[in-house]
Amino acid sequence: MTIGGEDVPAKDVFDVVDPATGEVHAQAPDCSPEQLDAAFAAAEAAYGSWRRDEDARRAALHAAGDLLLAGAGDLAPILVGEQGKPLKEATFEIIGAGVWLKHFADLPMPRQVIRDDDAAFVEVVRRPMGVVAAITPWNFPLILACWKIAPALLAGNTMVLKPSPFTPLTTLRVGELFRDVLPAGVLNVVSGRDPLGAHMTVHPVPRKITFTGSVATGKRVAASAADDLKRVTLELGGNDPAIVLPDADPAAIAAKLFGAAFQNNGQVCSAIKRVYVPESLHDELVEALADQAARTKVGPGLEEGVTHGPLNNRPQFERVAGLVADALSGGARAVTGGKPVDGPGYFFEPTLLTGVEDGSRIVDEEQFGPALPIVKYTSLDEAVARANGTHFGLSGSVWGTDTERAAAVADELECGTAWVNTHLALHPAQPFGGFKWSGIGVENGTWGLEGFTEVQVRHRAKG
Ligand code: NAD
Repeated sequence: MTIGGEDVPAKDVFDVVDPATGEVHAQAPDCSPEQLDAAFAAAEAAYGSWRRDEDARRAALHAAGDLLLAGAGDLAPILVGEQGKPLKEATFEIIGAGVWLKHFADLPMPRQVIRDDDAAFVEVVRRPMGVVAAITPWNFPLILACWKIAPALLAGNTMVLKPSPFTPLTTLRVGELFRDVLPAGVLNVVSGRDPLGAHMTVHPVPRKITFTGSVATGKRVAASAADDLKRVTLELGGNDPAIVLPDADPAAIAAKLFGAAFQNNGQVCSAIKRVYVPESLHDELVEALADQAARTKVGPGLEEGVTHGPLNNRPQFERVAGLVADALSGGARAVTGGKPVDGPGYFFEPTLLTGVEDGSRIVDEEQFGPALPIVKYTSLDEAVARANGTHFGLSGSVWGTDTERAAAVADELECGTAWVNTHLALHPAQPFGGFKWSGIGVENGTWGLEGFTEVQVRHRAKG
């Protein structure tokens, strides 16, 4: 672990499983309560000088970004080993994380003069909060960590970061690399099982918790934070709908739809998780998506030509298998896939399900895996109502040839990002967050940066 700029071993360790084999392939330090205290103390000690030197912070974030860009080749196999994704995607994630750090390194801090007259000069500025506790999930361990590190550190905060126990290794290694470019204590990286996350949320030092993970855990985090009125940003689950309009061209959209549903094996918070299609296009779209599924190659992430690795962990593998089995026993048809791949590891065949309706678990719940329900609709109003009729509200998309019409339908979606003829199109300048149970607050862009600050009014009387 990295605590106060030092390499800190733990007395206890826990196992990390390679999802491609289902076997333990590494061990990670299990941070003790005393070590967590030390990490927060180090972050608190570093805060005083870190928050005062904006130029140094920008230079450090650039240097950190450069380390990731230069180190992607070494880091990517570590990420594949713990997460399962294909090497190319792992490399892409690490490069993306570097790009994120460098984007924020140049982002202006918002400030605004709201009054300058005979009586007063009044300016609204953004101040850092202090120490931030950051908790990340296992689907994109590194880029999601950098979505937090970049804005939090730019704003002048310091941080204690804890990756998921399923994927601690890349983040721990990056903590080690960043010791060369960040002052001691600015970024502390610890690892441990889920209770360590819970301890972070009740610890007296952090003023802010930034959390990415499931809705269930997010609610616990919010409840823990309430007692001390810690600020929270919660990036939680999604059940993103894609509405295909009657004028869409299935052959033209299939590759994009399939990609946005099956990227990272569907283990993306804002992946397409249900497709609504008019009866008139149903068969043609299903055929075009099945054609995409036929082009996939499922296998270990380090193997040449593999497009889809295993699911990340056994509970998730069992959850996806259970949801697919539930749909099939309820009368759904697996046009492709429908079952795990024989052999070791958590591999599951890319699965397209038809004959499913709202009310079945695979449509109503977040599957977070390579299984996509394709649901027929008769009227567009009904499709929009079904798309919105959920506790989730992360993102959604509308697909059609007449883009103005598609955009008008997208305007009706109750979610944080409404895409037209695309899905999963993200950018560091673009805020990302969810309505309803999909989260509180946003990450990225100036809006995400503001989430790591408090508003301060600076009012100087004149005359
Ligand atoms: P999870 O909620 O099980 O775990 C997330 C993190 O929280 C892990 O680091 C875990 O150790 C920690 N944790 C567990 N219990 C805790 C507690 N009581 N207090 C504090 N921390 C605790 O989620 P997961 O299974 O790792 O991730 C999958 C979920 O994350 C999916 O629902 C997915 O949609 C969501 N997700 C959301 C986004 C987004 O940006 N909205 C991005 C990626 C993933």
